[in-house]
Amino acid sequence: MSCINTPCAQSPAIYLDANATEILRPAARQAAILAMEQTGNPSSVHFYGRAARRLLEEARKTISAAFGRDTDACVFTSCGTEADVLAVHALGCHMGRRVLVGATEHEAIRASTRGAEVLPVDEQGLLRLDMLEDALKQGGPALICVMSANNETGVISPLEDIAALCRLYDSFLHCDAVQSCGRGALPLQDFRNVSFAISGHKMGGLKGAGALVLPQDMPVSPMMPGGGQERGRRGGTPGLPAIASMAAALEESQKQNWGRIEALRNQLEFAMRSAGAEIMGQNVARLPNTICAVMPKMDARIQLMKLDMAGFCVSAGSACSSGKMEPSHVLEAMQQKDKAGQAIRVSLPWTIRQEEVEAFAEAYCAICR
Ligand code: PLP
Repeated sequence: MSCINTPCAQSPAIYLDANATEILRPAARQAAILAMEQTGNPSSVHFYGRAARRLLEEARKTISAAFGRDTDACVFTSCGTEADVLAVHALGCHMGRRVLVGATEHEAIRASTRGAEVLPVDEQGLLRLDMLEDALKQGGPALICVMSANNETGVISPLEDIAALCRLYDSFLHCDAVQSCGRGALPLQDFRNVSFAISGHKMGGLKGAGALVLPQDMPVSPMMPGGGQERGRRGGTPGLPAIASMAAALEESQKQNWGRIEALRNQLEFAMRSAGAEIMGQNVARLPNTICAVMPKMDARIQLMKLDMAGFCVSAGSACSSGKMEPSHVLEAMQQKDKAGQAIRVSLPWTIRQEEVEAFAEAYCAICR
């Protein structure tokens, strides 16, 4: 077995940073290789173009079906960020809707909605539904951006309730499902006023593909009109290997035993708590693989460094901000700002094994002693 991005017995370090990027799944690798062998451009009408187009449309069908949507509801993009930005552009600004944004959203949403009204969360990281309703009452139809699960804490949003409120006030919900899609918690399928952003590499596909899943096959104003690909909704030749691998990863993730991963996560969390850590969002539903742990009085940078030296890869905050090491806006929104400098994120990949969890627990207890 190749060791590239695939921890095995000989791996020099144990990878516990799946929320930054998930370990490549075998079916995704296989699908990418098959797609790489396709010479044609899916827009070409000849034999090779048609063969590439078939793969592209199969991937579209798989992804749309996972959300219970028409096949053409899925618009392929280059990543989750692009899918989020396209949603804000096409479903918010372009439709004349005011935009309201959850306080713990990822930068993908935050950076494209500067100046938008921010919806607060409670101390566990859950959106304040009373405040959402007040905001919806106050103005015309809105686009509400709320993530289905938070990348730093794993806290899962009550999407059914949020979507129902949006429908009541003739508004639209865009849900950043980048962390939850492919992690056992597929979001709601029945609501017709919700769009979803997803990302291939977060589920075990290649980097370089994402999708905006619309409520149905509907026109949206493109940010990049280009050559009219994706039914005029997103120009540019689609990255077929990454897209095919995203669909394969999603299918494979649906067969995963998430209960096993959750049990290992709980075991690890118990050990970390015994060492003195506080778990963020501990009392609410969370992704089965994620732990956001605060070790009082111990700088997260020191924790990361010591864990790295001991052979464990974890992160502080999200992948996009970990290089900068800025205080987490997520913990700040949860009124836990004073703890942000001591928080690390451990996110178990789908390959996680009992002995890896035990080894990490031992190393963590040793460095925190
Ligand atoms: N949304 C969330 C919740 C994320 O965690 C991330 C990446 O960390 C993104 C969006 C951006 O996804 P991508 O890396 O595919 O652009």
